[in-house]
Amino acid sequence: MNPPTPPADAGLRAQSPGEGARDELLRFLDREAAVAQATQGRLAVLLVELRRVDRLQALLKGPPAAVTLSLVLERLRPALRPEDRLAALSEEQVCIVLPRLAHPTQAVLAAVKCLRALDRPIAHEGGTAVLRPCVGIVTVPEHSPDPASLLMAADVARRIAGTREEGYHVFQSEDSVEAEVYHGLDIDLQRAIRANELEVHYQPQLRLADGVPVAAEALLRWRHPTSGPIAPSTVVGIAESTGIIGSLTFWVLNAVLRNASQMGREGLRPRFSVNLSARTLVDSELPEIVEQALGTWSVPPAQVTLEITESSMVGDADRTMAMLTRLKGTGVELSIDDFGTGYSSLAYLKRFPVDELKIDRLFVAGLLTDRGDHQIVRSVIDLAHNFDLRAVAEGVEDEAVRAELKAMGCDLMQGFLLSRPLPEREFRAWWQDRVGRA
Ligand code: C2E
Ligand code: MG
Ligand code: MG
Repeated sequence: MNPPTPPADAGLRAQSPGEGARDELLRFLDREAAVAQATQGRLAVLLVELRRVDRLQALLKGPPAAVTLSLVLERLRPALRPEDRLAALSEEQVCIVLPRLAHPTQAVLAAVKCLRALDRPIAHEGGTAVLRPCVGIVTVPEHSPDPASLLMAADVARRIAGTREEGYHVFQSEDSVEAEVYHGLDIDLQRAIRANELEVHYQPQLRLADGVPVAAEALLRWRHPTSGPIAPSTVVGIAESTGIIGSLTFWVLNAVLRNASQMGREGLRPRFSVNLSARTLVDSELPEIVEQALGTWSVPPAQVTLEITESSMVGDADRTMAMLTRLKGTGVELSIDDFGTGYSSLAYLKRFPVDELKIDRLFVAGLLTDRGDHQIVRSVIDLAHNFDLRAVAEGVEDEAVRAELKAMGCDLMQGFLLSRPLPEREFRAWWQDRVGRA
């Protein structure tokens, strides 16, 4: 029996809150940006980042994201003019469009008013919490009126604002390197997801003890029609900052599981590792999405490992713990990626239900030349084994490193030495050739 094809709107599924309001705001921005351009008028976009929103949510007993956001939007509304529009782009970001301004300083004044409005403790059902918001500002005509580029610039300014005492930052052209890179790509990415233009490549992992390939990591690839290949970290960054990371994760999971299902019918059953971004981890629907994809393609959960970077686990430990426990409940395995670069404490490692530590390739690269790196790799392997976890070394490029890792008792290796990440068909052929029928 053929596996079902994913629903036609598979790539379109969005998990962010207030989707309708958000779409309406983006249409409003579109219209007003065109007006500003035609009339040489003035417009501003403010991007408000609600830092510590998790603390606030912890105090709420209702549907957390929706309640938190409505409290925040209620606070912001009186700080704005009637013609201004606002909507949540995600659980942690609110976008405000200020059309037809008379003077650029009005945008800064509005930002300061918004910051003040959110400065007072927010109380709900007996608990109180204080947000530490910051605001990125971009103005037209100082910046081009292209809506996608405006949002990217506001996002760059928002990140800079997070480091400033005053809590806001007006985008300057010299901040633009990143925005230029992103220019227009977010719109293209949404289209690419819908048009199935993205691809997943697979990089095999080998068991060091006996040299048998046992798994593969799925790595996202996007060849942009005019800009060429875009780095996966950029793709993920765009998807996170524009609120479409949920759709992207859904797409990748389904693509990988479709392949797993097809290989399974040919008797080939590698374990597949899929990367999850930090933002996906706060999406409360994630475990259902995973479960649904496993069901759709009839892939045993034990054949799937979800990779979470160490840095995305720090922050709200209780919330991370709750999410990892729910994910683990679906039957998949969990891995901590880029281990050694973050700050996870031993206490977390003991509590979190993980199965694998992936040693960052930075340390693997220096294994034979840098004593410090050697000690770190040694410690991570020992740490993994003390907690009954697998240790995986990534970025293995030469034979001497592989031999040393094997001698050190590392469980698995992945890297160019074995194979580059391969397109789906080539990967299947590689696996068939090396492993054959199970
Ligand atoms: P990662 O998960 O740590 O993936 C390993 C990266 O190391 C990959 O880069 C891989 O191509 C590269 N690599 C593998 N072997 C070697 C080697 O021997 N030498 C060197 N120098 N590099 C090697 P890539 O594909 O560019 O991916 C970069 C990062 O983007 C990934 O790091 C992962 O964090 C993220 N990423 C990739 N695909 C996805 C995805 O579907 N979803 C999410 N959320 N993130 C993804
Ligand atoms: Mg990874
Ligand atoms: Mg890694």
